Amino acid sequence: MAIAAHPGDAFFAMGLAVALQVHLGGQGVFLSLSLGERGSARIAPAQYGILQRQAAESAAQTLGARAEFLAYPDGEIPVSEEAKFAVCDFIRQYRPGIIVTHWRGSWHKDHEACYKIVNDALFYAGLPAIDRKQPPHEVGKLFFADNWEDANGFMPDIYLDITTVFERWQEACAAFPMWRGGNGFRYNDYYGSLAVTRGCLSGCKHAVALMSPPEQLTRRVKAL
Ligand SMILES: [Zn+2]
Repeated sequence: MAIAAHPGDAFFAMGLAVALQVHLGGQGVFLSLSLGERGSARIAPAQYGILQRQAAESAAQTLGARAEFLAYPDGEIPVSEEAKFAVCDFIRQYRPGIIVTHWRGSWHKDHEACYKIVNDALFYAGLPAIDRKQPPHEVGKLFFADNWEDANGFMPDIYLDITTVFERWQEACAAFPMWRGGNGFRYNDYYGSLAVTRGCLSGCKHAVALMSPPEQLTRRVKAL
């Protein structure tokens, strides 16, 4: 399950990891906390939000995954208990083994908000004493995605070979009007060549880098 502030983050920065899980027989869900409706200088937010939702649904379908939305206002995603419980409910509904989300070291306030919301939503989702419609669910692993806006202190410790799904992912991302630089940032060039760069560092054609929370790296062993 990818949980992102905006659909672009979900598919461009987290989509390859999800696509690989689906390819390997798993399931994938892309949850966007906002539609990213204020991302276009030319198209009014109401209309652009519709295009973003359609693009996310189309991209999810291409990858054999699902798209979900919470539709908080773009730029104003609240770090509220309501938002944390809303994400908690999605986690309890889909019961993912793995979540990929934003790293906290971001200059984008929505991305930082998403990091905080997910952190507490994971806690709420796993706590049996918190009574919601769905039973509690503990997520096995959490990873932070390699995102051009979240680079402050991002230290990847996993390089994932996603060569098998690279082309399908590009096809999925092409559903977004912003993919080819329409909003000022060349996402296709950046994330496409980043996958090549990460592949060079890990001995395969294409890879994505992920960062684990420090506590997830702790190993309890009986011998070195
Ligand atoms: Zn974003």
